[in-house]
Amino acid sequence: MNITPERVRFAPSPTGYLHIGGARTALFNYLYAKKTGGSFLVRIEDTDLARSTSESEEVIIRDLHWLGIHWDEGIEVGGDHGPYRSMERQELYQPFIDQLLAEGKAYHCYCTQEEVEAQREQQRANHELPRYTGKCRDLTEEQKAQYEKEGRVPVVRFKVPEDQTILVQDLVRGNVEFDSNGVGDFVIVKSDGAPVYNFAVVIDDHLMEITTVIRGEEHLSNTPRQILLYEALNVNVPKFAHVSLILGEDRSKMSKRHGSTHVDQYYAKGYLPEAIVNFLVLLGWSPEDIEEEIFTLSELEKLFSLDRVTKNPAVFDIKKLNWMNGQYIRKADIDRITDLSIPFFVQAGYITEEESTIKRNWLTKIVEAARERLEYLEQIIEHARIFFDDSLHFENEEAESMLQLEHVPTLLKTFREKVEEVDVVDTEFASSIFKILQKETGAKGKNLFMCIRVALSGQCHGMELVDILELLGKDKILTRIDKVLAYLG
Ligand code: GLU
Repeated sequence: MNITPERVRFAPSPTGYLHIGGARTALFNYLYAKKTGGSFLVRIEDTDLARSTSESEEVIIRDLHWLGIHWDEGIEVGGDHGPYRSMERQELYQPFIDQLLAEGKAYHCYCTQEEVEAQREQQRANHELPRYTGKCRDLTEEQKAQYEKEGRVPVVRFKVPEDQTILVQDLVRGNVEFDSNGVGDFVIVKSDGAPVYNFAVVIDDHLMEITTVIRGEEHLSNTPRQILLYEALNVNVPKFAHVSLILGEDRSKMSKRHGSTHVDQYYAKGYLPEAIVNFLVLLGWSPEDIEEEIFTLSELEKLFSLDRVTKNPAVFDIKKLNWMNGQYIRKADIDRITDLSIPFFVQAGYITEEESTIKRNWLTKIVEAARERLEYLEQIIEHARIFFDDSLHFENEEAESMLQLEHVPTLLKTFREKVEEVDVVDTEFASSIFKILQKETGAKGKNLFMCIRVALSGQCHGMELVDILELLGKDKILTRIDKVLAYLG
């Protein structure tokens, strides 16, 4: 099969964080470029001056890099179609504005914001569709001069052709039709000369030779305006693929109430980027004839196709993400997981950064023992608490009640003696001690294992007991047992 290399782009507005939905859009674009041997661009759509910030741009770029989504052209990396921020492209927009004005396809509109709003109010009152009435469409030169004399500065409005059906042939949603009469003449240049998104995006996609626009479903309603502009300018209309929304588990649009919605929140909790990528790609896409769900980015670069993107909305299932992240944590190189876990230990006040270098081997072993149980790395704080915090602390009543059993003081005293006798609590000791305790005290099963576990960790369940013994080491074990015995009186 012959694949045409596609030029695609991710065009975030720098008005906040990188949202999970935006990251998925970026990923789909990236994968589609790779799959077709084409190019992936990132450009910044900063037309919303009031909300755009350079901090946001930095965060978005940083998070894309973190996810491993790199681009061939655009912001930071440069290329032949720059600049890659809309507001730096104003000069490039001008000829297109002039062309539309000269051909009578756009016009200067002198209505003030208040007047436009009043017209809309009136339309609502008459049960009409609120849209611009076209009041300034056919102003005479005298009328224009009069307005200018009043100090009014015009916007440029696009003249929407009447009675047209605008067809969006969407690669995900199929054919979607819009009636041009519902659109209303829209502003393409504000009175301060700044371009409006719907106009800038068309010129940018045109000049950047974008072949397919892959973006979120929320932009579908902008597409008819954009198609009208392409047609008015007599330039190629790109293909469109609008990817469905991501929903929360209650099937309403994914938002803060459903949990973390920003990529950097997942970074902060210790999710791995490859798990996020793997999870995101499955929100709306699935490979053909493959049951497997774990994919690396490079596998996805070969597997991805737009025709396997569904138009059904995807539901964000955090349990699935947690499961998947856990899989990646277990498979990852232990040194990397240790590096990523250390900041959590430091943050929790367990160790200082300096100590983390000195105690690296010990920390690595803790991470190795704990990672079996982790969904995301921040959870290591709880799992590893026992190695840093000597205070007596029971996770729940069940744990506390285990120590109230009659045989516990004898069991703990015997255990203490055995620990006292050895120089180090090593694997050999840790794996033979329970048989010995069972023989000498008669305690077995839960009464043996869980009681020792609770005495050492305050928890009924957790890491392998053998690992706990070894990682605590002789001194800490003795201190703890003494504390428990004192507490039991
Ligand atoms: N700047 C838009 C956004 O951040 C994207 C528009 C587009 O992809 O055409 O939602």
